[in-house]
Amino acid sequence: MSLDDFDRHPLLFGPSPVHPLDRLTAHLGGARIWAKREDVNSPLAFGGNKTRKLEYLIPDALKQGADTLVTIGGVQSNHTRQVAAVAARLGLKAVLVQESWVDWPDPVNDKVGNILLSRLMGADVRLVDAGFGIGFKESWNQALEDVRRAGGTPYAIPAGASDHPLGGLGFARWAEEVREQERQLGVFFDTVVVCGVTGSTHAGMIAGFAGQDRPRRVLGIDASAKPAETRAQIEKIARDTAARIGLGRDLRDEEITLLEGWAGERYGIPDRSTLDAIRLTGSLEGVILDPVYEGKSMAALIDLVRDGDIPRDANVLYAHLGGQPALNAYSGAFA
Ligand code: PLP
Repeated sequence: MSLDDFDRHPLLFGPSPVHPLDRLTAHLGGARIWAKREDVNSPLAFGGNKTRKLEYLIPDALKQGADTLVTIGGVQSNHTRQVAAVAARLGLKAVLVQESWVDWPDPVNDKVGNILLSRLMGADVRLVDAGFGIGFKESWNQALEDVRRAGGTPYAIPAGASDHPLGGLGFARWAEEVREQERQLGVFFDTVVVCGVTGSTHAGMIAGFAGQDRPRRVLGIDASAKPAETRAQIEKIARDTAARIGLGRDLRDEEITLLEGWAGERYGIPDRSTLDAIRLTGSLEGVILDPVYEGKSMAALIDLVRDGDIPRDANVLYAHLGGQPALNAYSGAFA
């Protein structure tokens, strides 16, 4: 079995763009930095990494005759917004369980940004009082049961579309896309920097790159502030995805790297370094990052380049996974 044997429902414009970040590179005075842009990967509600993952879950949902996508995330979840968009596009319903993962005092936190977009796309948005966690939840089971009781056929999509048999495939394909873009651009990205929380983005990349001839460093940056759980989930999904796409060998431990130190104290709360990274990238490149995910992985990239952990002769590919709509709920952080 190889990746090509899995059904894929196209939801993206095509390959996501890759471009150099010249002014950030010059500012840091080290490795050459590029970005690959999942934040502009799709015509559906600002896209993002989940839209790419959903390309592989949707054929399964349609095969099962589902009429309702049921998923879960925080109040400002990018994932649930992307599920709402995909449901709208396919003429399906969406039930979104939105838990209070983040104790963030912005008064419009549950009204603007991602949750606003989900509501206006017609999703059934359910606010639930439960803390941060990437596992299976009672409220989610309840939502599935509600759909069944109403005569519908739900399709269950876990948080971040991660802990799902097909969750790693989207970013295994991303790895193939990178190889093709490298050929076109005449570069080799020896280092990839990617944010990790529910894990299947990083895990899929690990599985995909593991099948390529030239080794490279895929540096996951923890933004969950629960790195042990996130690491375990990444390892599990990476190994499972590698087997699924026929890698033909076990992944080595050193192929799975999750770095800690940039998540701040809690998931969803920006650290000083997060806000600095957002301002720096915005002011030098006009590229917008969010305070929950990408600001944290960019803060790591900046430190790793500055400190020489990523060497001067490296070509770094920063995976920009989306997330900007949440910025609307964080205006106070930039006051
Ligand atoms: N970046 C953004 C913008 C996200 O929405 C997410 C979702 O959780 C991540 C990064 C992390 O990806 P994953 O959950 O696959 O680890």
